[in-house]
Amino acid sequence: MVVGLGPGNRDLLAPAALEALKISDVIIGYKTYLDLIEDLTEGKEVISSGMRKEIDRAQLAVDLAQQGRTVSVISSGDPGVYGMAGIVLELAGDSVDVEVVPGVTAATAAAAALGAPLMHDFAVISLSDLLTPWVKIMNRLEAAGLGDFIVVLYNPKSHGRQTHIESAREILLWHKNPETPVGIVRCAKRGLESVVITTLRDMLKEEIDMLTTVIVGNSQTKVENGKMVTPRGYKV
Ligand code: SAH
Repeated sequence: MVVGLGPGNRDLLAPAALEALKISDVIIGYKTYLDLIEDLTEGKEVISSGMRKEIDRAQLAVDLAQQGRTVSVISSGDPGVYGMAGIVLELAGDSVDVEVVPGVTAATAAAAALGAPLMHDFAVISLSDLLTPWVKIMNRLEAAGLGDFIVVLYNPKSHGRQTHIESAREILLWHKNPETPVGIVRCAKRGLESVVITTLRDMLKEEIDMLTTVIVGNSQTKVENGKMVTPRGYKV
């Protein structure tokens, strides 16, 4: 199984994910995420691996499953959103059954903390260029701006590349108003959550790191009583 842990708070870990962990003999994941569920892994074989070891982790899971073990590979948020589900399915082929257990992804966790910014069409774009050429990311940013999509930015600061968020903002400003509301959520639905609502003009004044999700509104998005809201279009 590839199991989504949700954003961090235990009440947002789905019962199906709990059950998957419960029936597993082996749990494999990145150390930070294993720490989040330490109390659920007692008595099980726990295999912790470092960041950027996704292929090794997925291969090990497939090998162990082929030997008849029940294995859970964990991802934060949803495992099918920049998580482990894809690589596990690719490596497993038809050799073992794989079940993907979904979780609350950072986009919706951050949206809930901000209010209701994702009520209309939105695009999710990761600013990490580890596996995607930067020029493609820039093209997607422009297309999303041109399409007046609400834009959710994952991995806003890539390893060693602090300027991506600055370039992303600049590209979005080609088609979006500088007054467009921007929500910045660090550790959404996790301990130490921080929520800031600012504008496209001022967003770089705020702290943004790898634990942050940034949501840039569309042309209709507004701030109502301290909440970021994109109207669905109902007449009120
Ligand atoms: N599979 C994960 C995403 C992994 S990509 C999911 O579905 O949520 C990692 C990025 O997700 C981080 O750089 C950050 O932008 C975002 N992220 C993950 N958890 C978060 C949280 N609790 N609060 C804010 N952003 C988060």
